[in-house]
Amino acid sequence: MRVAIVGAGLTGSLLACFLARRGLTVTLYERRPDPRVAQVERGRSINLAISERGLDALRRIGLVDEVMADALPMKGRMIHPVTGPLDFQAYSASGDRAINSISRGALNNALLTAASAAEGVSVEFEHRLVELDSAAGRMVFATPAGKVSVTADVVLGADGAGSAVREQLLAEGIVAENVDFLDYGYKELSIPAASGEFALDPGALHIWPRGTSMMIALPNPDKSFTCTLFWPAGSFDALTSPSGIEDHFRINYPDLLPLAPNLVDDYLNNPVGVLGTVHTLPWQAHGRTALVGDAAHAIVPFYGQGANCAFEDVVELDRCLDDTGGSWARALPLFEARRRENTEAIAEMALANFVEMRDKVASPVFRLQKRVEHGLERLLPGTYVSRYELVSFSTTPYAEVQQRVRRQHQFLGAGVLAGLGILTTLARTRKRR
Ligand code: FAD
Repeated sequence: MRVAIVGAGLTGSLLACFLARRGLTVTLYERRPDPRVAQVERGRSINLAISERGLDALRRIGLVDEVMADALPMKGRMIHPVTGPLDFQAYSASGDRAINSISRGALNNALLTAASAAEGVSVEFEHRLVELDSAAGRMVFATPAGKVSVTADVVLGADGAGSAVREQLLAEGIVAENVDFLDYGYKELSIPAASGEFALDPGALHIWPRGTSMMIALPNPDKSFTCTLFWPAGSFDALTSPSGIEDHFRINYPDLLPLAPNLVDDYLNNPVGVLGTVHTLPWQAHGRTALVGDAAHAIVPFYGQGANCAFEDVVELDRCLDDTGGSWARALPLFEARRRENTEAIAEMALANFVEMRDKVASPVFRLQKRVEHGLERLLPGTYVSRYELVSFSTTPYAEVQQRVRRQHQFLGAGVLAGLGILTTLARTRKRR
């Protein structure tokens, strides 16, 4: 049984590790040169918040300690208003639980090294998929030496949001796709270490909520921060001169300016990335070709769940192979049946969280809501659990999270209404007296 995985990013490399444990022969085909020796593309460093779902997958292949050695735990959000003091908001009721800032590149390298070392796995870099016959498992790759044709019993597309495997399945008329582009782009900026120390608290994910725009910053092991500025796509072009850029940041992000000496250079030279949600139907064809991770269902990054969700895909696909006695023909449809509603749920929650991060986190009403929510979690442990807690600190399926949170809100709404009813009755009784 020969398995080809297209894309040696986070999903593909992790998947290779899982499949190797099943004794399968796996080849990873990656369009880029080996990232462990090549230079990272400018402005595309991206540090990820990895939480329980991602850690659960890493634990299963014994890689969690190695990855966590370089992780920086963030126990809450630090809100930066335009004026006034910073506001720290813990993610969990106990204040102890943390999401972890990890460099995407470093995580990818660790997974690639683990995959390359696994028995039965080989990696072909500088192999870009350009053609696919999904029924026959035949692939053509463009390589520096010219085109190469190969076949495999199973082809898994783990080649990201702009998946070439998906594009080929689309051209074969096998899948339908819908890509909802967000009208926001993103640009990376940086805050270097100041006198060898972190310039901001490294124990928090920093947010500058500004309504129409938003910036976040996550810490790195070298004591720098990577900032990501989200802004309506066309707005980035409005700032073209160094003085214009500095003025804009002085007015909107005044505390950033003294911490970011490379701001103008970063702004002028780092690319603007696009964001969107990918919906694909179906994810598999002929019981031998399938899409996994972002290739099947990329989401916007506002819940910090894209990679976590992709890792959960890998765990579920492995479970489906267990449950079908290793039959790919039965495992691939089962995988899709089990995962689809969950990936749709997190896609919705990620979009909703953008509004929360961009608009709501700074408001006193939001702060009060969070305090009440954490109070309820402490009062009713295990009975009332916040959405954030369920998404980030558990492996409760995403669709179940949505349903449970809806029920909790209905229950609370009913409680509030009942409370108001009692108060109204009491007030009326008093009046009559
Ligand atoms: P990718 O990482 O895109 O990897 C795909 C791989 O396939 C790449 O190596 C690519 O070179 C290769 N490839 C592409 N085309 C071909 C081809 N034709 N032939 C061969 N190889 C090919 N997720 C989180 O969990 N937490 C976060 O905090 C978070 N923050 C994010 C912030 C930003 C700004 C962005 C953009 C994303 C963020 N994500 C986050 C999402 C996360 O990065 C993705 O979900 C994750 O990288 C998906 O992994 P993947 O392997 O499926 O796809």
